[in-house]
Amino acid sequence: MPGLENEIKRLTALGLHRRCVEGDIPRVAALTLEINRRKKERGAVICAHVYQTPDIILGIGDLVGDSYKLADDCRKSPAKTIIFCGVHFMAETAKILNPEKKVYVPSANAGCSLSEAITADDVKKLKAEHPGPPVITYINTSAEVKAESDCIVTSANAEKILRRMYEKHEKVIFLPDRFMGANLAKALGKTPGKDIILWNGSCVVHEKFDPGLIKVYRQRYPGLAVLAHAECPTELIREVDFMGGTGDMMRYVESTNAAAYLLVTECGFGELARLKFPAKNFIAMCRLCPYMKSITLDSVLALLQDPAAQEVTVPPAVAARAKKAIEKMFELAA
Ligand code: SF4
Repeated sequence: MPGLENEIKRLTALGLHRRCVEGDIPRVAALTLEINRRKKERGAVICAHVYQTPDIILGIGDLVGDSYKLADDCRKSPAKTIIFCGVHFMAETAKILNPEKKVYVPSANAGCSLSEAITADDVKKLKAEHPGPPVITYINTSAEVKAESDCIVTSANAEKILRRMYEKHEKVIFLPDRFMGANLAKALGKTPGKDIILWNGSCVVHEKFDPGLIKVYRQRYPGLAVLAHAECPTELIREVDFMGGTGDMMRYVESTNAAAYLLVTECGFGELARLKFPAKNFIAMCRLCPYMKSITLDSVLALLQDPAAQEVTVPPAVAARAKKAIEKMFELAA
């Protein structure tokens, strides 16, 4: 089977035989070959978030990146069908920005603890309690919550957009991640409860990292650069060299030459960094996101065989309001 042999060679050249994949390379290659064939047949594009496994990102992903990049790439893609290997709110965002396209998520379990932490009614109540300040909402939320917001942010642009908001407003409401909100408040010299109203949401992956371990790793690995995602608790962020979104973290790794890197975020990101920079030294400290990891090559193939059940829809009235808030992000992040 020359097709399969070539696919095995392609995946091996990408280094996939060295990293965690769902099985041995011939099995992975048979799946990626079939998925890529069916994807082409349907004229579909596959978005892969950096928390997916390397076999998905490198084996079948066409558009790869963090939430911001994927949202931007989706609106620019000419494809009529989007298969989103990421969590549900990301696929909803793609649908909101591309109402004429079909959008699918290859798992019924691809939720997100942050997205589930707040409802549209919660936002309405909060606005009634704090009338006036703009509602700045992290992209990790449902379409209904976005529809109640003034501007969406991602970890890649939250600080920049908040700075711009504070040029016109003394106070903002930031939803729903309490840790990211507190980290941003600290970076901007603002006081939670006074200048920035926060919600009590958190990410089940990032909230559990132990800040005490950073000192231990620094002693063990001299010259270590510690990078953490902005969803981590503030006590941990105090100990790191760099806080940001995954896109910024990857650029930091690319542009520096530390003796070793500790990437405090979801494991898929570290896997990708190791493949991109094989000569650099990465120290393992990561946690798996159960929602992201509910997507596998098998589930993508199953979707391509029977897509109807996993189509993502957003009521047009909700989508129209949510789109305004997302477009505000693109305007302010530019
Ligand atoms: S890593 Fe956290 S924020 Fe990201 S999808 Fe998983 S639960 Fe949600």
